[in-house]
Amino acid sequence: MIRHDVVVVGAGCAGMRAAIEAKRRGVDVAVVSKLHPTRSHSGAAEGGINAALGNATEDSPESHTFDTVKGSDYLGDQDAIEIMCHEAPGDIYELEHMGAIFSRSDDGRLAQRPFGAAGAPRTVYSADITGNVLIHVLFEQLVKHEVKVYEEFHCTQIVVDDGRCAGVLAWDLVRGGIHAIEASQVILATGGVGRMYYGTTNAYACTGDGMSLAWRAGVPLKDMEFMQFHPTTLKSNGVLITEGCRGEGGYLRNSLGERFMAIDAPNAMELASRDVVSRAEWKEIADGRGVDGCVLLDLTHLGPKKIKTRLPGSRELALDYAGVDPIHEPIPVRPGAHYHMGGVDVDIWGETIIPGLWAAGEAACVSVHGANRLGGNSLMETITFGRRAGQAAGDRVRSNGDSGARIEASVVADERRRIAALLGAEGGERPAVLREEMAKTMYDKAGVFRTESALTEARAAVHALRDRARNLQLEDRGSLFNSDLVQALELEAMLECADCLVTGALARQESRGAHSRLDYTERDDDRWMKHTLCWHDGGEVRLDYKPVTVTKYQPLARSY
Ligand SMILES: Cc1cc2nc3c(=O)[nH]c(=O)nc-3n(C[C@H](O)[C@H](O)[C@H](O)COP(=O)(O)OP(=O)(O)OC[C@H]3O[C@@H](n4cnc5c(N)ncnc54)[C@H](O)[C@@H]3O)c2cc1C
Repeated sequence: MIRHDVVVVGAGCAGMRAAIEAKRRGVDVAVVSKLHPTRSHSGAAEGGINAALGNATEDSPESHTFDTVKGSDYLGDQDAIEIMCHEAPGDIYELEHMGAIFSRSDDGRLAQRPFGAAGAPRTVYSADITGNVLIHVLFEQLVKHEVKVYEEFHCTQIVVDDGRCAGVLAWDLVRGGIHAIEASQVILATGGVGRMYYGTTNAYACTGDGMSLAWRAGVPLKDMEFMQFHPTTLKSNGVLITEGCRGEGGYLRNSLGERFMAIDAPNAMELASRDVVSRAEWKEIADGRGVDGCVLLDLTHLGPKKIKTRLPGSRELALDYAGVDPIHEPIPVRPGAHYHMGGVDVDIWGETIIPGLWAAGEAACVSVHGANRLGGNSLMETITFGRRAGQAAGDRVRSNGDSGARIEASVVADERRRIAALLGAEGGERPAVLREEMAKTMYDKAGVFRTESALTEARAAVHALRDRARNLQLEDRGSLFNSDLVQALELEAMLECADCLVTGALARQESRGAHSRLDYTERDDDRWMKHTLCWHDGGEVRLDYKPVTVTKYQPLARSY
């Protein structure tokens, strides 16, 4: 049996930041990750990370807080938002001191670019490869702090012993076999679930594993109906073209060449909040002013120098995947599933209702993003709340010592039998078939715009898929590098998250942030300014609600 004081599941920005902070507390820390750390989806982040440094124009944490509350369509918890916005500048300087190379302005200070719905240029960046820079800097720190990493270990269960978290079970992808990894404190940092949608910006590994593991262990998932659609993704494969393109001055045009954002956001134009821009695009396309199912992101007026120095990665993506050079031609783009505002319900230190079980990053819902996340706020959340969870979990070990919770041998034996049954099953369906049906269903029926009838169909389809997924057949029955098995485990997780999403969305009879109902077009604060909680009830989703924390800002109409 392996044992550590603190085990962090996930090695993206949130997981690594948490592990480093826990290790600084002088306790024994390990990371379990199904990917090599630098392959985590955080590494794909392009545009940047938000902190009110005030380097470009005057700015303040208060202003960052207000923009985030408004951007969340008043569903974000204001205490959590205040924490992030006030702690963000210190966290950015610390990343810089760790070695993160950020782009600089002419006077030598950290450069800041404007991002959607932000009152000031607030987004710190490293050209358009910010996530790649951060993930490598954090990995260096992880190595420097001598944190043990169980790499290519797929976590399959969170074990709860007498109401306390006892550790995790994980499948060793390289050698095969289930391992029990005991810990007094477990921090989930397993990222998002974009892969439940067709045409997503998310990596193949973003399959909501941690959310489903926590759900099955008895922790509610919060605000699962809120999936953000990014306005600028490539049609062919969903690859993201960063909001930084619009931040640097790019325009969105329809087939007539018009800047259609003038209709829905006459002031902010292309830099309105993402939900607003995605809906405007969807309407243009539906009304016949699209170009082959897309709208056009026009950067040609920025000139070759700016495109080559500020947006080199985006140019490369457009050239490789759309065959378009943005210096000369506009890039066809459309909305694609991008970021999940919902996740594991945690408090402002990242702790769940199960003592010793924490969550941070996209897997968690603190909630700082409410119904709609602002670009650049997610990386900041991974760092600030990753650090806080690592700090609190490390301190808990220092003050309380060994939690005493243990993983029984029978629990490990049961999990071994479950995996063996999956490997040996005959006569079922291939996971990939169900995965594709799920992704199409979610995109068509629970996408940018939603209705009662489409959501009812989506829910029935997801329930049918969950039934069919009980009878899977794997082509690869071996134990070494069995990606078929991983796909089956990921499919289960995504279907559970999808069930939570559609069940929450069907119940929420209003439009708020990314949840836009054609049959309930207004925000309804009297009935719906509350968080949705999805509980595991014998495998089914049971809904419940809890109030939003309001500190300073009463809800106002949201316009840009
Ligand atoms: C293309 C793209 C661009 C983006 N750009 C920006 C941006 O510019 N600014 C911004 O603020 N946000 C951006 N975002 C969002 C932001 O990058 C993510 O929300 C954030 O990086 C998530 O970090 P994380 O640490 O929570 O998870 P991830 O980085 O996704 O890491 C998840 C980790 O969990 C591990 N894991 C998952 N399941 C298991 C399991 N079962 N067992 C073991 N390990 C597991 C994985 O191996 C991985 O290490 C972008 C997102 C995408 C997809």
